[in-house]
Amino acid sequence: METDAQPSSVPPSIVVAASSSSTPSMPAAAAPEPRGGPTPSPLPCPAPASGPEDATSAGPADNNRTSSSSSSSSSDSESEHEPKPTIRHPKLLLKIQDLAHPGTAKFFRAVPDPGAVLAEAVDNIDRHLYCSPDGSQKPKKKFHAPPTRSVTLVLRDMDGVAYTTGSEIDNDHKEIHFSLRYIDHIRPESRLAAEIRGVLTHELVHCYQWDARRTCPGGLIEGVADWVRLCCDLGPPHWRRGTEGSWDKGYDHTAYFLQYLETRFGPGTVQAVNAKLRRHEYRGDAFWRELLGMPVEELYADYVKAVKGGEGDGKGIRIQNIGNDVLCTMCPSFCSSPFP
Ligand SMILES: [Zn+2]
Repeated sequence: METDAQPSSVPPSIVVAASSSSTPSMPAAAAPEPRGGPTPSPLPCPAPASGPEDATSAGPADNNRTSSSSSSSSSDSESEHEPKPTIRHPKLLLKIQDLAHPGTAKFFRAVPDPGAVLAEAVDNIDRHLYCSPDGSQKPKKKFHAPPTRSVTLVLRDMDGVAYTTGSEIDNDHKEIHFSLRYIDHIRPESRLAAEIRGVLTHELVHCYQWDARRTCPGGLIEGVADWVRLCCDLGPPHWRRGTEGSWDKGYDHTAYFLQYLETRFGPGTVQAVNAKLRRHEYRGDAFWRELLGMPVEELYADYVKAVKGGEGDGKGIRIQNIGNDVLCTMCPSFCSSPFP
């Protein structure tokens, strides 16, 4: 499968070290995870229809991660009950391939400090995918993140919205390609900052999620990325709980389904999905039966019934009257989500 066009012939570019925290040397990959070379997108990056979004996949490898202080949101004086970061902040780089593009000026007007925005997004991903909802640290061996060492944000003129790929160095070095054309056309302009942050969060999740050694359905990969975006209250206004199509249609469609599972089975359910994708290749029926005790199709049928009927799923879960709001059980402690 192909992603958006790769940068073949490009104008002179500027590379800036946007931000970095400690980037310790990582041991050579111990596990025989697939690595190197660009990671093809599990789903094609859709052209922006009425709104935002998309992109690609990650190609993790296997290594222990240790905690490291972050540069943005956490401070030394914070309570010891704050969740300790699991993801070590990557080296963050910025590459601008067209300074004269109108999208470039809009990007910096909306996001004057992209390094801080990316660092905050990494923290949010850590909290939602790797830290316990109660702030305690999970066993590192089970819940550690892929050992992404650097992330280069490439702003360039291209079709689509954005995608993430492994760099030419190796798969622990990621590149997020973000379309200046798309940024230039975000409307209304008051949504620029939120949309850019949402897309960056989605793409960064691809740098830190597991993909069952590339056997995970693309729709689940994209759903997890949008689920994190949803939990960060960065979902665009046009997102809706969809009941058409299968559970793994991807993006916000699957994100809302994952949110339902999080509500039904408790905080940490999506973390468990992600953790299971680290350890094993994806085997659909066994995957969900082992994790949640029933086939995913059955769970999705319950979800559709609950959304359509608004009368719950018969198992104590009610999603009536919450519309498209994010009912994120983890947000109260981690995000600025207004939901109680
Ligand atoms: Zn994506």
